[in-house]
Amino acid sequence: MVQVKDVKTNLILDPNAEVVHDATTNLIPSTSDKKVGRYTTFVHIETDKGMSGFSYSSGGRALEVLIHDNLKHILIGEDPLDTEKLWNKMFWQVRGYGRKGLAFLAISALDTALWDLKGKILDAPLYKILGSYQDSVPCYGSGGWTNYTIDELVEEQTSYVEQGFPRVKMKVGKDFGQSEEEDIERLAAVRKAVGKDVTIFIDANNGYYAKQAIKMSKIFEEFNVGWFEEPVLADDIQGLAEVSRSTIIPVATGEHEYTKYGFKDLISQGGADIVQPDIGRVGGVTEWMKVAHLAHSYNLPVAPHAYSLLHLHCCMATPNLKVVEILGNEMKYWPFLFKETPEVIKGQWKPFDKPGLGLEPNQNTIKNHSV
Ligand code: MG
Repeated sequence: MVQVKDVKTNLILDPNAEVVHDATTNLIPSTSDKKVGRYTTFVHIETDKGMSGFSYSSGGRALEVLIHDNLKHILIGEDPLDTEKLWNKMFWQVRGYGRKGLAFLAISALDTALWDLKGKILDAPLYKILGSYQDSVPCYGSGGWTNYTIDELVEEQTSYVEQGFPRVKMKVGKDFGQSEEEDIERLAAVRKAVGKDVTIFIDANNGYYAKQAIKMSKIFEEFNVGWFEEPVLADDIQGLAEVSRSTIIPVATGEHEYTKYGFKDLISQGGADIVQPDIGRVGGVTEWMKVAHLAHSYNLPVAPHAYSLLHLHCCMATPNLKVVEILGNEMKYWPFLFKETPEVIKGQWKPFDKPGLGLEPNQNTIKNHSV
């Protein structure tokens, strides 16, 4: 039997990461040392047989503390193949302080690293272990940040189309929903630039109120929008359901939801037409697959949020997959973080035929950019 021997982390700072804004957040890093940049935490689960599992997360220094002080001891000495047992032990460990939020980022990173390790122990790509459904997955180019000028927005969105993505996503709800005219103007400019055949998804990042979102949806319908993401506060399930009932545009949401329990409430109350679990938050591979199956039981499609490289394998094994998000600013960041990544061809993507996630950290980055 293989045993977990240790869990190690590297906190990586990319000082050149692009600063981007959406409707309700300036995605600038929060740091205690006032350094500006983007933080990523690499997580390595080492075994007594020399193999190690790898994953990564945002969450910065606080995530590292949670892993080392609160969760690591649960894994040490255990068989890394026992992912259900270990997930549940971690879940109960954080019961009082982490049923949603940061502790779940830590559980997610550890669970996904265990699945990577499982692939390496069993010598198979993760998507084969999960039970592959398709040979490749459709993707979309995502960005369209609210701090872009209209020219920058159009340039970025059309660049995805030029790279072969037939689908793009842009932000609306600018300035906490207070710039409605601009939202419309920006969407009109992108529709005009990409033409009628490209699918445009829009994302309000919680920026509108329900009545406002319903009013805006009537205008957005004229631009043939593919989905309306987080039209209102993620916790306002009633509002989401109201928007969903009021427009022909599907409501997409779920990036701020945690665990199968959270998704049960969201889906059963009609809050999501397209379900968007985030593997870095929902509880890793173990919980992401359960949420995908839950959505399937409601006959709803799944379109994961961010973390494209971690979602890729799960999506290969998901019959009700709609499309995988690839953020332009993350894509630029991949060579800095990873040794190599699979290429997206004409908006379709498939994993390397390597054990586990098939993802290795960039050792030069660990050496030169650890903080
Ligand atoms: Mg979003």
